[in-house]
Amino acid sequence: MPDYETHQYDVLIIGAGGAGLRAAIEAASAGVSVGLVCKSLLGKAHTVMAEGGIAATLANADDRDNWKVHFADTMRGGQYVNNWRMAELHAREAPDRVRELEAWGAVFDRTSDGRILQRNFGGHRYPRLAHVGDRTGLELIRTLQDHAIYLDISVHMECTVIALLKDGDRASGAFAYDRERGRFHLFHAKAIVLATGGVGRAYRITSNSWEGTGDGHALAYDAGADLMDMEFVQFHPTGMVWPPSVRGILVTEGVRGEGGVLRNNEGRRFMFDDIPELYRSQTADDEDEGFRYTQGDKDARRPPELLTRDHVARCIRREVKAGRGSPHGGVFLDISWIKSRIPNGEEHIRRKLPSMYHQFKQLADIDITREPMEVGPTTHYIMGGIRVDADTQMSTVTGLFAAGECAAGINGANRLGGNSLSDLLVFGRRAGEHAAEFARRNALPAIDRQQVDQAARAVLEPFDRSGAPEGPFQVQHALQDLMQDKVGIVRTAGDMEAAVVELARLRNRAEHVGVAGHREFNTGWHAAIDLRNLLTVSEAIARSALERRESRGGHFREDFPAKDPAYAGFNIVVRKDSAGGMKVERAPLPPMPGELSAIIEEMK
Ligand SMILES: Cc1cc2nc3c(=O)[nH]c(=O)nc-3n(C[C@H](O)[C@H](O)[C@H](O)COP(=O)(O)OP(=O)(O)OC[C@H]3O[C@@H](n4cnc5c(N)ncnc54)[C@H](O)[C@@H]3O)c2cc1C
Repeated sequence: MPDYETHQYDVLIIGAGGAGLRAAIEAASAGVSVGLVCKSLLGKAHTVMAEGGIAATLANADDRDNWKVHFADTMRGGQYVNNWRMAELHAREAPDRVRELEAWGAVFDRTSDGRILQRNFGGHRYPRLAHVGDRTGLELIRTLQDHAIYLDISVHMECTVIALLKDGDRASGAFAYDRERGRFHLFHAKAIVLATGGVGRAYRITSNSWEGTGDGHALAYDAGADLMDMEFVQFHPTGMVWPPSVRGILVTEGVRGEGGVLRNNEGRRFMFDDIPELYRSQTADDEDEGFRYTQGDKDARRPPELLTRDHVARCIRREVKAGRGSPHGGVFLDISWIKSRIPNGEEHIRRKLPSMYHQFKQLADIDITREPMEVGPTTHYIMGGIRVDADTQMSTVTGLFAAGECAAGINGANRLGGNSLSDLLVFGRRAGEHAAEFARRNALPAIDRQQVDQAARAVLEPFDRSGAPEGPFQVQHALQDLMQDKVGIVRTAGDMEAAVVELARLRNRAEHVGVAGHREFNTGWHAAIDLRNLLTVSEAIARSALERRESRGGHFREDFPAKDPAYAGFNIVVRKDSAGGMKVERAPLPPMPGELSAIIEEMK
């Protein structure tokens, strides 16, 4: 291909977060050539923001923990529509992946006898999250990156993939542009791994970094892959609500894991008011028992603040709606109160939650060792994504693999905190291994020049309309408002039907936006390209959410507020039909093997 800079690899990995880096390490270790493309700088992927920890049953903080309990917790959290095989593999393999990370140089917080310390998190029965203060993602990325440096991996930073290429039914490459100069790059590969992260930027209030525009989801969908569970979006209960410029920034669940409590404007711990039946036997009877749990008392049960995120987020919304919220539309999260129970409380809080301390001090002028924080729900994570085979991570397109947040399955209707970082390691490794294996067994596919030229033409179109009345940012903001208001934390058929209609209008507006200037680091142009992906994932979320006429996990329907057993037996899948429309289907869940259902029964 003379026009475009061309690169050829056995395995091409798109995304350099935890999943992409772990996949790259595994593929390179298998001896195949590996290219790694990412749209930010290496080391700056969204994973770097992860705070609370990595879930794995090392059983260092509580020796009753084991993979079976983790499996049962993950399935319960996901309301039993998870891919049970993925949940099993994840629970079984996570401890080895964490130990491996330690062997590669990760410096975790320690128990007094020198083992990896583990903390409590919502929905996990025992303290299970290996952590580095509240900066675990930074340590994870640093360690993987240090390790990857010694392997023969070619890295293409600040390079955004805009289309996947196909040879018949098989993935054959990717077309990209570098953000700095705007030049096109053609990647030709035997196998491709998508590890592009989440979609949070489809919403106005989000904890996600600018990268979370659902690129991998949309690229896979356009290439003919199935997307699954897209209705399941996680609204984390505790994002910052004030000042407006920082609205949505995450307040880690680690605050509640360390003893932080939620109160309304009457000073009441409202989380005790509504405890779901599924968790009643595991939840503390009173405040004292809840606090003892956070301090490691094995006889105590978790405080209701550590119930699953979907439930806590809805309780906060209820308080705000009932007029019992904080001045800026949230509720109060208080960790300072533990000073009355712990010697050197202020120092303890600063040591356990250093980022939270600085975040609130610098951004909101709040000292969390002395005053409560104001918090409210923020769009945080998508459980849905590219449908993959549990063992190999291959999507429904031959030679196209996916891992991490852009893949679906392990989390079902709701993800437990800490299960993402372990997911990245377990399934990143599997994707890298199987992509390498696929590359070894298959010859290089062909590149179709027409597909390349068409992709190039399509992304340059906004420059032809440089005088257009509207730019991409206006449409992007309208999209974010629409998703926030009509397909957000509480949904109804009427709102979502209106959203689908409006999304079609927004797509039309997006096709007419103009971009001025040239291709060198042109953020308007980048936004116009990202917009196409945001529209695709938003439509997939809205259509899937309409199809699930019940409430389950992260998906809450005001018109169908109860869980309906009739919906327990399938996942919702979307794919592109032959006319280019979005087709919605119900995919029955495969029956669970007896030994796994026995574990779930035993742990109920
Ligand atoms: C503030 C915060 C705290 C969190 N804390 C925790 C926690 O404590 N524990 C936990 O388990 N989970 C946590 N999560 C969730 C977790 O961090 C994410 O789910 C996870 O990091 C996603 O990793 P990933 O590898 O799938 O993708 P990411 O880390 O999002 O990386 C995506 C990569 O893909 C690249 N990319 C995207 N699109 C393109 C494209 N078109 N072309 C080329 N490259 C592209 C990006 O540049 C990036 O390199 C947290 C999330 C947030 C927002």
